[in-house]
Amino acid sequence: MEIYRRYTREEDNSESKAEPNPNKHGSYGTLLFDVRWKQKRGNILLLDNNKCVICGLNEDLQVHHRQYQYINALKKFKAPWEYPDRMLITLCSSCHQRGHAKYKVPIIYI
Ligand SMILES: [Zn+2]
Ligand SMILES: [Zn+2]
Repeated sequence: MEIYRRYTREEDNSESKAEPNPNKHGSYGTLLFDVRWKQKRGNILLLDNNKCVICGLNEDLQVHHRQYQYINALKKFKAPWEYPDRMLITLCSSCHQRGHAKYKVPIIYI
C-alpha cells in the first residue's frame, strides 16, 4: 500500500535509531488536551481539508505524528504541537489504529 509510506517517511537527515519507545503515546495523553495542541490540530485538519488522507472519511478525525523527536539537550520529547505541519497528517480513527498496528513511529534524536 503506497499511501502507508506516509506513516514512516523520513524527511530529515537526522539519524534515526531503532529503539523501543518509552510509551510515548500514553504519555501524550494529557498534553493532547492542551490548547496549543487544539490549535495545531485544527491547522492540520484544515490543511488536509478535514478528511482522512487515506480513506477520505470526514469524521472521527485524529492527527497523527509521522515521527517523534527527542531533544537530546533537553532530555525530552518535543511537545505534540512543536512539530512542523509536514510531520503531521489527518487520519480517521480506524486508519489511525490500523497504521499504528502496522508501523512503528520512528524516533529521531535531535
Ligand atoms: Zn498516531
Ligand atoms: Zn481513514
